[in-house]
Amino acid sequence: MAKKSLSLVKKSETILTKKTLPTKANDQINTRVKKSSQDKITKYIFVVGGVMSGVGKGVAASSIAKILQARGLKVTAIKIDPYVNVDAGTMNPTEHGECFVLKDGLETDQDMGNYERFLDIDLLGTNYMTTGSVYQAVIAKERNLGYGGRNVQVVPDIPAEAIRRIKKAGAEASADVVLIEVGGTVGEYENILFIEAIRMMKTEAPHNVVVVMLSYLPVPGHVGEMKTKPTQHAVRTLGASGVFADIILARAPVPLDNKRKDKISRFCNVLPENVISAPDVSSIYDIPLNFEKDHLSDRLCNLLSLSCNQSSDLKSWKQFVSKSKNTKNTVRIAVVGKYFSSGDFVLADVYISVLEAIKYSSYKLGLKPEIVYLSANDFLDKKSLKELKQYDGVLLPGGFGKTGVEGMINVIKYARENKIPYFGICYGMQLAVLEFARNVLNLKNASTEEIDPMAKDLVIGVMADQKTKIASGDMGGSMRLGQYPTVITKGSIAHKSYKQDTVLERHRHRYEVNPSYVMELEKAGMQFSGKSPDGRLMEIMELPTTVHPFFLGIQFHPELQARPLTPHPLFTAFIKASYETKK
Ligand code: GLN
Repeated sequence: MAKKSLSLVKKSETILTKKTLPTKANDQINTRVKKSSQDKITKYIFVVGGVMSGVGKGVAASSIAKILQARGLKVTAIKIDPYVNVDAGTMNPTEHGECFVLKDGLETDQDMGNYERFLDIDLLGTNYMTTGSVYQAVIAKERNLGYGGRNVQVVPDIPAEAIRRIKKAGAEASADVVLIEVGGTVGEYENILFIEAIRMMKTEAPHNVVVVMLSYLPVPGHVGEMKTKPTQHAVRTLGASGVFADIILARAPVPLDNKRKDKISRFCNVLPENVISAPDVSSIYDIPLNFEKDHLSDRLCNLLSLSCNQSSDLKSWKQFVSKSKNTKNTVRIAVVGKYFSSGDFVLADVYISVLEAIKYSSYKLGLKPEIVYLSANDFLDKKSLKELKQYDGVLLPGGFGKTGVEGMINVIKYARENKIPYFGICYGMQLAVLEFARNVLNLKNASTEEIDPMAKDLVIGVMADQKTKIASGDMGGSMRLGQYPTVITKGSIAHKSYKQDTVLERHRHRYEVNPSYVMELEKAGMQFSGKSPDGRLMEIMELPTTVHPFFLGIQFHPELQARPLTPHPLFTAFIKASYETKK
């Protein structure tokens, strides 16, 4: 399909221009120039937060990436987390939200999940950095005499390393556009070196870099009027670092009116058409469509002289959004977790990929999911278990450590005995095996090495290659991480769902089903329908449909590969079974 270009590549950036060649030859050369990745000019869009955090910078960045992708551009995305942690793996989920594992095993921020879901692409470790990882690389380089004996300084060496990574990620993906989300808010100490990286990149190639500031415009109840002052201050604060916003996304409870648009334009040095309204929406998947109402992709293509399709192809996205809003029947799913509460607040973000995966599969089946978060600790008292009767399915997501475990085991037993569809992810699988060992095999003292290493029957044990890591205190980035293959037994629920003999799924665990108990468990009716290719690691566990409508656990994290347009087959099987067994 021929692409119509909005505007040609900037003259100064092309080797040959129309003036120097006859039209036909010029066309040929242009095609050649465009196809050669070596000559490809990659453009960079930075998204920074003004005013305050928590207003959806990640989703805004994903949506910008989406609308550019819909214009036929090759887009990749980067998240910069200003933490000193080297990756997100060592952060408590109640503090940082979900840890999203990439296929190459890097433990990252949940925003990476948004990127993968919106863009339907797999990202790599190069697409994520933290202050810690950047410093670590600079220090390692210095130790190897990589700086040739000169002074290594915070500026320019730290921003320079960030820039090197940004460019590398663009080249690896042969991207037309790289979207970079800078965590935090302008004016913070934490992200200042990354703001400096923007300044350095923009100075080097002003026409290749655009800065989008996501701001927040409050509407104080007692005033009843949208206020632009915090945005004006944020623009000034950013300006003090030598960086100026090209586009302002005006997050607010309501759409922006023209008066406010003009005011922001006048006081924040941006054209009125570069002030984009970003009101609260009922679904995050509406955001790309909303941005296009204000012609955001046109504005970006223009500012960056991007050669892209004239019209936007968001057809399948729109179909998904409309399907999600036109569901008829409800399916009620209980997610029993241990990281839900923080003071008086419920932290659904901790399991964001799981929640989204439930939604995609439900929409695919034309169902409206009603997801209820239940705290595992509430089920320590068996009397509360009856509450589970009202749900069509029970899901236990991944987790670590002792808290809530006995409550989870009670929940699993109840779901198994009362034939409530059960889906156990990672810890949810390990504890289902443990419950089966205790209550079906009658190994009353069965446990997992994670919580009771001295227990008599360790049906879940530490993986051999993890032993030395634990002993030496090497706990960061040292689990079994990332994508590994699973071979699936024909005829099983898993095989019927995947319709594949081998699948690749992402992992994040230190413990495994102890192989010495597998025969005994299988004899008692538990089937290990998915194993590592050498048959050593149990990847999928299920009970036959003759004894339970749906009882399945997986050692990996299927939620990390569930996408709006391609829901995960195991989630779909679980939701389907839940709906079909609905009372
Ligand atoms: N805590 C378990 C392990 O480390 C399960 C991990 C998880 O649920 N991601 O093996």
